[in-house]
Amino acid sequence: ATLPDSTELIVTTPGWQPGKPLFAAAAEAGVPIWGDVELAWRLRGRDGREPAPWLAVTGTNGKTTTVRMLASILEAAGLRTAAVGNIGVSLLDAVLGDQEYDVLAVELSSYQLHWSPSLRAHSAAVLNLAPDHLDWHGSMEAYVADKGRIYEGNTVACVYNAADGATEDLVRAADVEEGCRAIGFTLSTPGPSQLGVVDGILVDRAFVTNRQKQAQELAEVADVNPPAPHNIANALAAAALARAFGVEPAAVRDGLRAFRPDPHRIEHVADIDEVAYIDDSKATNTHAAEASLASYEPIVWIAGGLAKGATFDELVTGCAKRLRGVVLMGADRALIHEALTRHAPEVPVVDLDRTDTGAMSEAVREAARLARPGDTVLMAPACASMDMFVNYNKRGEAFADAVRALAAESA
Ligand code: ADP
Repeated sequence: ATLPDSTELIVTTPGWQPGKPLFAAAAEAGVPIWGDVELAWRLRGRDGREPAPWLAVTGTNGKTTTVRMLASILEAAGLRTAAVGNIGVSLLDAVLGDQEYDVLAVELSSYQLHWSPSLRAHSAAVLNLAPDHLDWHGSMEAYVADKGRIYEGNTVACVYNAADGATEDLVRAADVEEGCRAIGFTLSTPGPSQLGVVDGILVDRAFVTNRQKQAQELAEVADVNPPAPHNIANALAAAALARAFGVEPAAVRDGLRAFRPDPHRIEHVADIDEVAYIDDSKATNTHAAEASLASYEPIVWIAGGLAKGATFDELVTGCAKRLRGVVLMGADRALIHEALTRHAPEVPVVDLDRTDTGAMSEAVREAARLARPGDTVLMAPACASMDMFVNYNKRGEAFADAVRALAAESA
């Protein structure tokens, strides 16, 4: 496409790659390029209402979960809020609609951040950084830089993951408002200006009067649903943003208790012959699959799909000892198979040479054959779904259907 004469502004959907000739032409002509988020940011308050501040979340994995936890906490605090952005309700609808909000819980993808030059959140969190979407961004550096944009101009808190130094580096590099604080979250005992975990309790050592000496109890680990380590990290990030906004500790606890995870995120489908079947279709990259593979043992792992430029050596090395067997399908399954051959040659692998939708019931049957009582069959593909399914929802539903069919047969 060429740039039409007299173009003053381009508003793009976030999915369009930055390298497109149209964008190069616009840059050359000095025409600004905005994404939907930038447009929404600029339209806030146009109707004369006081615009709601944004509490923003990005990261390679856990965004949706964290934003929903955050919205649940804000609601428990009696605030008018919604989970918006890369999560169903668009920011434009939230900003232009009739509904009034006190604060918005905003999920932002790296694509959206790329096209949001003037966005300034009240506070923001980067949950973690691992290679993903590198085909779109061109490099890990470009991906990380786009994620880091979320901290620009924050006024109260930049929330980072103490276990992921790259997120803290982004806070240091950000140009924030005077007085904005760096707040860490950790699964261990928190230092000053951090939230963390002590003896099964989520505690806040950041938003308390004497953070050198004091910590405030927020909730119990058992209040987090499900209480898997990566999900406790998500809860701490959500709590940090809520506390930055002034929410009381009791509302953090109530909000976490009220939270229910979205489907296809480590969702228990059925137990058949003492084998648990878990749908983690949302594990569309290796970093996400790593978190769920670390939550079970022994595992029959169903994986494969579109790799999006990823490599699998690290993932396979990390989980090799937990694997009872592996069933592979989808376009890039050979990449996973090669990594298994290199790092886990003793693990049996069933390679399904098909990418049609029906492959899922065959995969579930093969997994059932490999599994022994006490095992978990985990569908955490570490890949995108679009080679075989419309999206990860459909992939998860296909898995659940196949599991239920198997359950009906063995009943
Ligand atoms: P996103 O919106 O970033 O895709 P979700 O909350 O939908 O994140 O979770 C996607 C998948 O990522 C989940 O199915 C789970 O396997 C994994 N996951 C969730 N939180 C984390 C985390 N903090 N670290 C690593 N993996 C995670």
